[in-house]
Amino acid sequence: MAEPQRVGELLPEDVDTDDCMTSYTHIYSPDLLKDQVAFITGGGSGIGLRIAEVLMRHGCDAVIASRNMDKLREAATKLSAASGRRCLPVCVDVRQPETIAAAVEETLKELGRIDILINNAAGNFLCPATALSFNAFKTVMEIDTMGTFNTSKVVYEKWFKDHGGNIVNISATLGYRGQGLQVHAGSAKAANDAMTKHLAVEWGPSGVRVNTLAPGPISGTEGYRRLGGPRGEAAGAFRSIPLQRAGNKTEMAHGVLFLASRASSYVTGAILVADGGSWLTSANDVSMLLGYWSSEKKRDK
Ligand code: NAP
Repeated sequence: MAEPQRVGELLPEDVDTDDCMTSYTHIYSPDLLKDQVAFITGGGSGIGLRIAEVLMRHGCDAVIASRNMDKLREAATKLSAASGRRCLPVCVDVRQPETIAAAVEETLKELGRIDILINNAAGNFLCPATALSFNAFKTVMEIDTMGTFNTSKVVYEKWFKDHGGNIVNISATLGYRGQGLQVHAGSAKAANDAMTKHLAVEWGPSGVRVNTLAPGPISGTEGYRRLGGPRGEAAGAFRSIPLQRAGNKTEMAHGVLFLASRASSYVTGAILVADGGSWLTSANDVSMLLGYWSSEKKRDK
Protein backbone atom coordinates (compact mmCIF):
# COMPACT_ATOMS: atom_id res chain seq x y z
CA MET A 1 0.00 0.00 0.00
CA ALA A 2 1.29 3.49 -0.86
CA GLU A 3 2.42 5.64 2.08
CA PRO A 4 -0.24 8.23 2.94
CA GLN A 5 0.95 11.80 2.09
CA ARG A 6 2.00 13.78 5.15
CA VAL A 7 -0.27 16.74 5.89
CA GLY A 8 2.68 19.16 5.72
CA GLU A 9 3.41 18.12 2.13
CA LEU A 10 0.03 19.18 0.76
CA LEU A 11 1.11 22.42 -0.94
CA PRO A 12 -1.30 24.76 -2.69
CA GLU A 13 -1.17 24.99 -6.48
CA ASP A 14 1.18 27.53 -8.09
CA VAL A 15 2.91 28.20 -11.41
CA ASP A 16 6.47 29.56 -11.62
CA THR A 17 5.69 32.15 -14.31
CA ASP A 18 3.67 35.38 -14.11
CA ASP A 19 0.58 33.49 -15.30
CA CYS A 20 -2.56 32.54 -13.40
CA MET A 21 -3.00 29.03 -12.04
CA THR A 22 -4.79 26.55 -14.28
CA SER A 23 -6.54 25.03 -11.25
CA TYR A 24 -7.09 26.26 -7.70
CA THR A 25 -8.45 24.53 -4.59
CA HIS A 26 -10.14 26.86 -2.12
CA ILE A 27 -9.14 26.57 1.53
CA TYR A 28 -11.32 29.47 2.60
CA SER A 29 -14.90 30.15 1.52
CA PRO A 30 -14.88 31.33 -2.14
CA ASP A 31 -17.02 34.35 -1.18
CA LEU A 32 -14.81 35.47 1.73
CA LEU A 33 -14.11 38.83 0.02
CA LYS A 34 -17.33 39.05 -1.96
CA ASP A 35 -17.76 42.45 -3.65
CA GLN A 36 -14.80 44.02 -1.90
CA VAL A 37 -12.06 45.93 -3.73
CA ALA A 38 -8.32 45.34 -3.22
CA PHE A 39 -5.62 47.83 -4.28
CA ILE A 40 -2.31 46.02 -4.80
CA THR A 41 0.98 47.82 -5.55
CA GLY A 42 3.31 45.74 -7.70
CA GLY A 43 0.32 43.52 -8.54
CA GLY A 44 1.46 42.89 -12.13
CA SER A 45 4.21 40.38 -11.34
CA GLY A 46 5.56 37.82 -8.89
CA ILE A 47 4.04 37.55 -5.43
CA GLY A 48 1.82 40.60 -6.04
CA LEU A 49 0.20 39.01 -9.09
CA ARG A 50 -0.55 35.80 -7.19
CA ILE A 51 -1.96 37.83 -4.27
CA ALA A 52 -4.25 39.60 -6.75
CA GLU A 53 -5.34 36.28 -8.25
CA VAL A 54 -6.08 34.57 -4.92
CA LEU A 55 -7.97 37.58 -3.53
CA MET A 56 -10.00 37.81 -6.77
CA ARG A 57 -10.77 34.08 -6.60
CA HIS A 58 -12.39 34.92 -3.23
CA GLY A 59 -14.85 37.34 -4.78
CA CYS A 60 -13.20 40.77 -4.87
CA ASP A 61 -12.29 43.11 -7.69
CA ALA A 62 -8.68 44.29 -7.81
CA VAL A 63 -6.59 47.26 -8.83
CA ILE A 64 -3.00 46.48 -9.78
CA ALA A 65 -0.67 49.49 -9.56
CA SER A 66 2.91 49.92 -10.76
CA ARG A 67 5.02 51.76 -13.36
CA ASN A 68 4.90 49.50 -16.43
CA MET A 69 1.42 49.89 -17.96
CA ASP A 70 1.94 47.27 -20.73
CA LYS A 71 2.82 44.62 -18.14
CA LEU A 72 -0.16 45.66 -15.98
CA ARG A 73 -2.64 45.49 -18.88
CA GLU A 74 -1.47 42.00 -19.79
CA ALA A 75 -1.69 40.86 -16.16
CA ALA A 76 -5.16 42.41 -15.69
CA THR A 77 -6.49 40.49 -18.71
CA LYS A 78 -5.17 37.19 -17.31
CA LEU A 79 -6.46 37.91 -13.79
CA SER A 80 -9.99 38.73 -14.98
CA ALA A 81 -10.08 35.63 -17.19
CA ALA A 82 -8.99 33.35 -14.34
CA SER A 83 -11.31 34.79 -11.68
CA GLY A 84 -14.28 36.30 -13.52
CA ARG A 85 -13.77 39.54 -11.53
CA ARG A 86 -12.83 43.06 -12.65
CA CYS A 87 -9.18 44.07 -12.63
CA LEU A 88 -8.19 47.68 -13.16
CA PRO A 89 -4.55 48.39 -14.13
CA VAL A 90 -3.28 51.82 -12.98
CA CYS A 91 0.03 53.53 -13.58
CA VAL A 92 1.68 54.48 -10.27
CA ASP A 93 5.16 55.23 -9.04
CA VAL A 94 4.89 54.80 -5.27
CA ARG A 95 7.66 57.41 -4.84
CA GLN A 96 5.31 60.05 -6.30
CA PRO A 97 2.24 60.68 -4.11
CA GLU A 98 0.41 62.53 -6.91
CA THR A 99 0.42 59.38 -9.09
CA ILE A 100 -1.04 57.41 -6.16
CA ALA A 101 -3.73 60.05 -5.57
CA ALA A 102 -4.77 59.95 -9.24
CA ALA A 103 -4.94 56.12 -9.18
CA VAL A 104 -7.00 56.07 -5.99
CA GLU A 105 -9.43 58.61 -7.46
CA GLU A 106 -9.75 56.51 -10.62
CA THR A 107 -10.37 53.41 -8.45
CA LEU A 108 -13.13 55.11 -6.50
CA LYS A 109 -14.73 56.37 -9.72
CA GLU A 110 -14.56 52.97 -11.45
CA LEU A 111 -15.07 50.53 -8.57
CA GLY A 112 -16.70 52.71 -5.88
CA ARG A 113 -14.69 51.63 -2.83
CA ILE A 114 -11.42 50.25 -1.45
CA ASP A 115 -11.45 47.61 1.30
CA ILE A 116 -7.92 46.22 1.15
CA LEU A 117 -4.53 47.79 0.46
CA ILE A 118 -1.54 45.53 -0.19
CA ASN A 119 1.82 47.38 -0.10
CA ASN A 120 3.91 44.92 -2.13
CA ALA A 121 5.95 47.11 -4.53
CA ALA A 122 9.69 46.93 -3.88
CA GLY A 123 13.09 46.97 -5.52
CA ASN A 124 15.81 44.52 -4.60
CA PHE A 125 19.22 43.16 -5.57
CA LEU A 126 22.26 41.78 -3.79
CA CYS A 127 25.06 44.27 -3.10
CA PRO A 128 27.69 44.66 -0.40
CA ALA A 129 27.50 47.99 1.49
CA THR A 130 30.90 49.09 0.18
CA ALA A 131 29.75 48.73 -3.46
CA LEU A 132 26.30 50.22 -2.87
CA SER A 133 26.00 53.80 -4.15
CA PHE A 134 24.32 56.47 -2.03
CA ASN A 135 21.69 56.68 -4.71
CA ALA A 136 20.99 52.92 -4.76
CA PHE A 137 20.39 52.88 -0.99
CA LYS A 138 18.15 55.94 -1.26
CA THR A 139 16.16 54.43 -4.14
CA VAL A 140 15.35 51.24 -2.22
CA MET A 141 14.31 53.29 0.83
CA GLU A 142 12.15 55.49 -1.42
CA ILE A 143 10.35 52.59 -3.10
CA ASP A 144 10.01 50.20 -0.16
CA THR A 145 9.59 52.54 2.81
CA MET A 146 8.43 55.93 1.51
CA GLY A 147 6.29 54.08 -1.06
CA THR A 148 4.51 52.14 1.68
CA PHE A 149 3.91 55.30 3.71
CA ASN A 150 2.79 57.33 0.67
CA THR A 151 0.29 54.73 -0.51
CA SER A 152 -1.08 54.03 2.98
CA LYS A 153 -1.56 57.74 3.66
CA VAL A 154 -3.31 58.48 0.37
CA VAL A 155 -5.69 55.50 0.69
CA TYR A 156 -6.37 56.40 4.35
CA GLU A 157 -7.14 60.06 3.61
CA LYS A 158 -9.30 59.34 0.58
CA TRP A 159 -11.26 56.31 1.84
CA PHE A 160 -10.19 54.29 4.90
CA LYS A 161 -10.53 57.26 7.32
CA ASP A 162 -14.31 57.24 6.87
CA HIS A 163 -14.94 53.59 5.90
CA GLY A 164 -12.27 51.48 7.63
CA GLY A 165 -10.18 48.93 5.78
CA ASN A 166 -7.30 46.47 5.91
CA ILE A 167 -3.67 47.17 5.08
CA VAL A 168 -1.20 44.32 4.54
CA ASN A 169 2.46 45.22 4.00
CA ILE A 170 4.81 42.73 2.35
CA SER A 171 8.08 42.70 4.27
CA ALA A 172 11.09 40.36 4.54
CA THR A 173 13.15 38.77 7.31
CA LEU A 174 16.47 40.25 6.08
CA GLY A 175 16.94 42.66 8.97
CA TYR A 176 16.33 40.06 11.71
CA ARG A 177 19.93 38.84 11.60
CA GLY A 178 21.52 41.49 9.36
CA GLN A 179 21.51 39.35 6.18
CA GLY A 180 24.75 39.93 4.21
CA LEU A 181 24.60 42.09 1.03
CA GLN A 182 21.12 43.34 1.96
CA VAL A 183 21.65 46.47 4.09
CA HIS A 184 19.36 48.46 1.74
CA ALA A 185 16.32 46.12 1.67
CA GLY A 186 16.81 44.93 5.27
CA SER A 187 16.82 48.52 6.57
CA ALA A 188 13.83 49.52 4.43
CA LYS A 189 11.72 46.54 5.52
CA ALA A 190 12.69 47.02 9.20
CA ALA A 191 11.34 50.57 8.96
CA ASN A 192 8.15 49.18 7.41
CA ASP A 193 7.74 46.71 10.27
CA ALA A 194 7.86 49.63 12.71
CA MET A 195 5.43 51.56 10.46
CA THR A 196 2.99 48.63 10.64
CA LYS A 197 2.80 49.04 14.41
CA HIS A 198 2.68 52.87 14.40
CA LEU A 199 -0.16 52.97 11.89
CA ALA A 200 -2.02 50.10 13.62
CA VAL A 201 -2.01 52.23 16.79
CA GLU A 202 -3.04 55.49 15.13
CA TRP A 203 -5.62 54.14 12.67
CA GLY A 204 -7.21 51.33 14.73
CA PRO A 205 -9.88 53.71 16.10
CA SER A 206 -10.95 54.44 12.47
CA GLY A 207 -11.52 50.71 11.86
CA VAL A 208 -8.28 50.21 9.98
CA ARG A 209 -6.18 47.12 10.69
CA VAL A 210 -2.52 47.19 9.64
CA ASN A 211 -0.53 43.95 9.45
CA THR A 212 2.52 42.54 7.69
CA LEU A 213 3.46 39.31 5.96
CA ALA A 214 7.21 38.57 5.86
CA PRO A 215 8.04 35.97 3.17
CA GLY A 216 11.18 33.85 3.08
CA PRO A 217 12.63 32.60 -0.24
CA ILE A 218 9.70 32.26 -2.66
CA SER A 219 10.04 30.33 -5.93
CA GLY A 220 8.84 31.70 -9.28
CA THR A 221 9.74 35.33 -8.46
CA GLU A 222 12.22 37.88 -9.77
CA GLY A 223 13.51 38.29 -6.20
CA TYR A 224 14.23 34.55 -5.99
CA ARG A 225 16.06 34.54 -9.35
CA ARG A 226 18.10 37.66 -8.55
CA LEU A 227 18.99 36.53 -5.06
CA GLY A 228 20.36 33.21 -6.30
CA GLY A 229 17.38 30.99 -5.34
CA PRO A 230 17.58 28.46 -8.20
CA ARG A 231 21.35 27.95 -7.74
CA GLY A 232 20.89 27.68 -3.96
CA GLU A 233 18.16 25.10 -4.45
CA ALA A 234 20.35 23.04 -6.81
CA ALA A 235 23.24 23.21 -4.30
CA GLY A 236 21.00 21.88 -1.51
CA ALA A 237 21.04 25.17 0.44
CA PHE A 238 17.38 24.80 1.35
CA ARG A 239 17.99 21.61 3.27
CA SER A 240 19.01 23.80 6.22
CA ILE A 241 15.56 25.42 6.33
CA PRO A 242 13.32 23.70 8.91
CA LEU A 243 10.68 22.99 6.24
CA GLN A 244 13.49 22.10 3.76
CA ARG A 245 12.18 23.95 0.71
CA ALA A 246 11.37 27.37 -0.73
CA GLY A 247 7.83 28.66 -0.34
CA ASN A 248 5.51 29.26 -3.26
CA LYS A 249 3.60 32.41 -4.24
CA THR A 250 0.19 30.93 -3.44
CA GLU A 251 1.34 30.20 0.11
CA MET A 252 2.17 33.91 0.47
CA ALA A 253 -1.20 34.86 -0.99
CA HIS A 254 -2.94 32.62 1.55
CA GLY A 255 -1.16 34.43 4.40
CA VAL A 256 -2.25 37.76 2.92
CA LEU A 257 -5.81 36.50 2.49
CA PHE A 258 -5.93 35.66 6.20
CA LEU A 259 -4.61 39.10 7.22
CA ALA A 260 -6.77 41.01 4.70
CA SER A 261 -10.04 39.26 5.54
CA ARG A 262 -12.39 38.92 8.50
CA ALA A 263 -10.62 35.63 9.32
CA SER A 264 -8.18 37.86 11.29
CA SER A 265 -10.71 40.43 12.53
CA TYR A 266 -9.00 40.96 15.93
CA VAL A 267 -5.43 41.06 14.59
CA THR A 268 -3.61 44.35 14.07
CA GLY A 269 0.02 45.48 14.29
CA ALA A 270 1.13 41.86 13.70
CA ILE A 271 3.98 40.53 11.58
CA LEU A 272 3.31 37.06 10.19
CA VAL A 273 6.57 35.40 9.17
CA ALA A 274 5.92 32.94 6.34
CA ASP A 275 9.37 31.50 5.64
CA GLY A 276 9.32 27.82 6.61
CA GLY A 277 11.47 28.77 9.62
CA SER A 278 14.23 29.91 7.24
CA TRP A 279 15.60 32.92 9.14
CA LEU A 280 16.16 30.81 12.24
CA THR A 281 18.63 28.45 10.58
CA SER A 282 19.87 29.72 7.19
CA ALA A 283 23.49 30.64 6.53
CA ASN A 284 24.57 34.28 6.79
CA ASP A 285 28.15 33.79 5.67
CA VAL A 286 29.51 37.03 4.18
CA SER A 287 32.54 35.53 2.41
CA MET A 288 30.34 32.89 0.74
CA LEU A 289 27.83 35.59 -0.27
CA LEU A 290 30.60 37.85 -1.58
CA GLY A 291 31.91 34.95 -3.69
CA TYR A 292 28.45 34.41 -5.14
CA TRP A 293 27.99 38.15 -5.73
CA SER A 294 31.29 38.57 -7.61
CA SER A 295 30.68 35.49 -9.79
CA GLU A 296 27.23 36.84 -10.73
CA LYS A 297 28.83 40.24 -11.55
CA LYS A 298 31.29 38.52 -13.89
CA ARG A 299 28.42 36.64 -15.55
CA ASP A 300 26.57 39.96 -16.11
CA LYS A 301 29.59 41.25 -18.06
P1 NAP B 1 8.74 41.62 -8.32
O1 NAP B 1 8.01 40.67 -9.21
O2 NAP B 1 9.94 42.31 -8.84
O3 NAP B 1 7.68 42.68 -7.78
C1 NAP B 1 7.97 43.97 -7.47
C2 NAP B 1 6.87 44.83 -8.07
O4 NAP B 1 7.03 46.16 -7.61
C3 NAP B 1 6.89 44.85 -9.59
O5 NAP B 1 5.61 44.46 -10.07
C4 NAP B 1 7.19 46.31 -9.96
O6 NAP B 1 6.42 46.69 -11.10
C5 NAP B 1 6.75 47.04 -8.68
N1 NAP B 1 7.49 48.27 -8.46
C6 NAP B 1 8.84 48.43 -8.36
N2 NAP B 1 9.15 49.72 -8.18
C7 NAP B 1 7.97 50.40 -8.15
C8 NAP B 1 7.63 51.77 -8.01
N3 NAP B 1 8.57 52.73 -7.85
N4 NAP B 1 6.32 52.12 -8.02
C9 NAP B 1 5.36 51.17 -8.20
N5 NAP B 1 5.61 49.86 -8.34
C10 NAP B 1 6.92 49.48 -8.32
O7 NAP B 1 9.22 40.94 -6.95
P2 NAP B 1 8.66 39.82 -5.93
O8 NAP B 1 9.83 38.95 -5.69
O9 NAP B 1 7.36 39.27 -6.35
O10 NAP B 1 8.48 40.70 -4.59
C11 NAP B 1 7.23 41.14 -4.11
C12 NAP B 1 7.37 41.55 -2.65
O11 NAP B 1 7.77 40.43 -1.84
C13 NAP B 1 8.41 42.64 -2.39
O12 NAP B 1 7.93 43.52 -1.40
C14 NAP B 1 9.60 41.85 -1.88
O13 NAP B 1 10.48 42.63 -1.10
C15 NAP B 1 8.90 40.77 -1.07
N6 NAP B 1 9.72 39.58 -0.84
C16 NAP B 1 10.00 38.73 -1.87
C17 NAP B 1 10.76 37.58 -1.62
C18 NAP B 1 11.05 36.61 -2.74
O14 NAP B 1 11.63 35.53 -2.50
N7 NAP B 1 10.68 36.90 -3.98
C19 NAP B 1 11.24 37.33 -0.34
C20 NAP B 1 10.95 38.23 0.68
C21 NAP B 1 10.19 39.34 0.43
P3 NAP B 1 6.91 47.83 -12.18
O15 NAP B 1 8.26 47.44 -12.63
O16 NAP B 1 5.83 47.77 -13.24
O17 NAP B 1 6.88 49.14 -11.46
